[in-house]
Amino acid sequence: MVVVYSDNRKMALEMVAKARELSGPLNEKVTAVVLGKANEPFSADLVKHGADRVIVAGASLEGAKAEETADILHAIVKEEGTSLVMIGSTKSGKEMAPRLAAKLLVGCSTDSKKLYIQDGAVHSERVVFSGNGVAVERFSSKPAVVTVPAKAYDPLPRDEGRQGEIIAKEIAPGVYGSKVVKVDPMLSEGVNVEDAEKIVSCGRGFKNSADIKLVEELAGVLKGYTVGCSRPIAADLKWLSEDHWIGLSGHKVKPKLYVACGISGQVQHIAGMRDSGIIVAINKDANAPIFKVADYGIVGDLYQVLPKLINAIKQKS
Ligand code: FAD
Repeated sequence: MVVVYSDNRKMALEMVAKARELSGPLNEKVTAVVLGKANEPFSADLVKHGADRVIVAGASLEGAKAEETADILHAIVKEEGTSLVMIGSTKSGKEMAPRLAAKLLVGCSTDSKKLYIQDGAVHSERVVFSGNGVAVERFSSKPAVVTVPAKAYDPLPRDEGRQGEIIAKEIAPGVYGSKVVKVDPMLSEGVNVEDAEKIVSCGRGFKNSADIKLVEELAGVLKGYTVGCSRPIAADLKWLSEDHWIGLSGHKVKPKLYVACGISGQVQHIAGMRDSGIIVAINKDANAPIFKVADYGIVGDLYQVLPKLINAIKQKS
């Protein structure tokens, strides 16, 4: 059995697609775990997107703590037997996965970018040292517990005719002393860079916050573009809210097109956008590292390049 769990539903569907692929060589079924109610329409969605079975556990446990979710998965894995547990690399997923691995006395690989079976063992590859290396990890313990970031895999197309089992289980987790004392909502402008297909991003090459309008204008004339930024723009200068922030400690994005304006391309930024389809960079320094990952580069002052680009696009449309 390959077990898939995420508190983020999109990520659960993405992982089911990969679990289907791996279930062949492992000769096991794909079982998705959902916390919630047995009649959740999402359980049926998981089947239509490739799960063989869905276990719906803990009707009263929505918003469960990491300790509780780990208990529930631990009980399921122990009862059913499994080779691989895939957990969405959300904040709570990464908090829970090592707890589960510790309970099972097995290894845990976080933020796995590539998963495969070789010589009968699960292998996980993940980016380390801020994007400067790739660690290849081979599991000698079973099950392999792996967390998988968003967009590592594409969900399978929906198959309305697909049938699967939906099983409700009541599993009582342990009682834990930890409690959430306060939740501070992240300052947000409602921007969703993670799902954006086209992103125009700005960095420290901009001299002041008012100039960011150049990027917004470019995004506007290009139609359908979302504005992103490097860390200093959101975290230090606070010219844009944190939901624009792309990189290792910000959002991971995978648009079809990424335009980086005045961004140097340090590894921590690249770590968040390296999977973009086509990368265009505008930077006045021909030696800026961003040009190493760019498909197209414009070496020039963004204060001259951007108005010309905006005008040229306006004239074409
Ligand atoms: P700079 O590095 O200052 O680059 C500005 C660029 O603009 C330069 O290349 C310059 O040539 C160019 N420029 C200047 N003026 C012009 C002009 N007029 N026209 C055209 N080009 C111009 N960073 C992130 O982005 N995301 C993260 O998630 C992230 N996480 C981090 C996590 C850790 C643990 C650490 C230590 C750092 C992290 N950083 C992150 C910070 C990262 O190391 C860099 O400091 C940051 O990405 C630099 O942002 P920048 O490219 O906007 O600025």
